[in-house]
Amino acid sequence: MNGYSSFNVPSSSAFAPGPGATGVPGGIDVPLGQTNQPRLLVRNLNNQETTFHLSGVELAYANSLRRVMLADVPTIAIDQVLFLQNTTPIPDEMLAHRLGLVPLISRGVAKGLRYTRDCECDEGCYYCMVTLKLKVSFRGADGEKFMRVTSDMLEVVPSSNGPPAPNPYGPPPELSEDDRQIISNRDPELGSPVGKGQPGVPPILLAKMGQGQEIDLVCKAYKGIAKHHAKWSPLSTVAFEYDPHNKLRHTTHWFETDERAEWPLSSNAVFEPPLDPSLPFDYNAVPSTFYFTAESVNSIPVRSVVEQGLDLLIENLASVILAVQKETGVDEDEDENGDQGVTEPDFGEVNGYGNGAQVGDYGAGGYGANGGGGGQWGGQGSGMSPLRR
Ligand SMILES: [Zn+2]
Repeated sequence: MNGYSSFNVPSSSAFAPGPGATGVPGGIDVPLGQTNQPRLLVRNLNNQETTFHLSGVELAYANSLRRVMLADVPTIAIDQVLFLQNTTPIPDEMLAHRLGLVPLISRGVAKGLRYTRDCECDEGCYYCMVTLKLKVSFRGADGEKFMRVTSDMLEVVPSSNGPPAPNPYGPPPELSEDDRQIISNRDPELGSPVGKGQPGVPPILLAKMGQGQEIDLVCKAYKGIAKHHAKWSPLSTVAFEYDPHNKLRHTTHWFETDERAEWPLSSNAVFEPPLDPSLPFDYNAVPSTFYFTAESVNSIPVRSVVEQGLDLLIENLASVILAVQKETGVDEDEDENGDQGVTEPDFGEVNGYGNGAQVGDYGAGGYGANGGGGGQWGGQGSGMSPLRR
């Protein structure tokens, strides 16, 4: 018994329904479940962190889940900054960059806000944007030489073009189904800086201000994903470990005198039996249990990030299946009448991100780089988010 799965069978049959997979030569000590389906064991979960074991899947699947949680789950972040005044020594660009990295509460943003490129408005509206403002000045106080400008001073500005108020005496306001869904999923705190007003959560320092200095700016926060910019990532950390005893020899431990002393076992080693040196090396063994750790920046609860990651993975794989079916004209569900039932894949909807040209444009966009008090939106003068172009 080597303690890890060796379901080294073709991937097409790895997940075939059947009465478990135990009994395969080499032994499977990993709990795969009765039907050899992927299995999740949550060891620790709070709003910010989770540790879970994922078994019954291949390494590529585990890594796909890690990447999708890190880079495909949408949040909102400040994307454009209009500088009305900035007399601090911090340049506009640096301040705009710091503002972009402030985590904003994004609960329910997947359904509670539209990507701005999908919205019919011209310059951002209630359904695709959150506006924040920062207006502070320091006139000098007793013994104080400077003032700290922090993320707690950012304030969400109520949208002027929000949904019409309900009419108790007449017909309900006319709204599209999409608009209604956004309104019903909208979190009342959406866009507020994470930790604002919470005791024990230190705010994020944005700048230090001397006597007589002033900052006055307006920020536009949009929905986005970390594939475009890391500021949209809902996680600060996501990692997984497998094979803590290095039975598969995927790692070579360089050491001077004592390998064990210089490479102590990880905390996950207790979940697998130790290496038995009397057994020959199993060339066919594959890893099957992955020990995940994910830590959120608190814009979205970490549980929601994992759930959305799994959903997105299903959507992405479905789009690949549909595309292959379209190319080959082969559909596994094809009925005997010859109806292939091929559905046109809609990549615009499924992928949720733009094409390469948009990504390339992003770097050139820049923020409010028009000098202090220029009163111009940063970017290429279009007044649009780079995500819209
Ligand atoms: Zn809009």
